[in-house]
Amino acid sequence: MNKLMILVVEDDKSVRNLIATTLRTNGYRFTEAPTGEEAIIQASSHNPDVILLDLGLPDMEGIDVIRRVRGWSNVPIIVISARSEDADKIGALDAGADDYLTKPFSVDELMARLRATQRRLAYTNTSAPADSAFVNGALRVDYAANTASVNGEELRLTPIEYRLLCLLAQNVGKVLTHTFITQRIWGKSMESDIASLRVYMAMLRRKIESASGSETQYIQTHIGIGYRMIKL
Ligand code: CA
Repeated sequence: MNKLMILVVEDDKSVRNLIATTLRTNGYRFTEAPTGEEAIIQASSHNPDVILLDLGLPDMEGIDVIRRVRGWSNVPIIVISARSEDADKIGALDAGADDYLTKPFSVDELMARLRATQRRLAYTNTSAPADSAFVNGALRVDYAANTASVNGEELRLTPIEYRLLCLLAQNVGKVLTHTFITQRIWGKSMESDIASLRVYMAMLRRKIESASGSETQYIQTHIGIGYRMIKL
């Protein structure tokens, strides 16, 4: 399953070499691009399974690479950014990136992110059509019946909590930004919506956790960024 083709977009040669060595050691195939233009060309010619994308590129913004690639492809994009590029990171997720890593990163973390993306790909490829059900550990969302349950016990969710849960489930493994979520749920993204989102998310999480009666964490908070449903 490790035979994914990874496109590594990074202008810093030492970082690129570090990533290349790590990928090679772990049995991944990869191709490298030092610029945004080269990245776009390779994304279309090599048809990579995952793109690792540095946001600070010499010829264009990484976020523009995402927008261009998203014009024709749903390939998972993992953004790699310096901490000073935090706002860009959120913009990148809004533009359609799937995940992010902050520099300096450990190679173990990079591998963990790749494995998570791989699991999500495998899951998406084998999942049933959206009109049936979503199962993740003890959690089950029955789209046809508009219900959700944990260990067979139905959750008493408000309509907004249920929609939040569906949105997270449909994007399992991905970090969803506050802006992305509020736009999907409320059709807009004001500060007040983001405050409401925190409240709804806390209630949803409490209901899931009290029903599962365990420490199992389904919804992960990324402070200042958004939420992710963990693929168990
Ligand atoms: Ca750079």
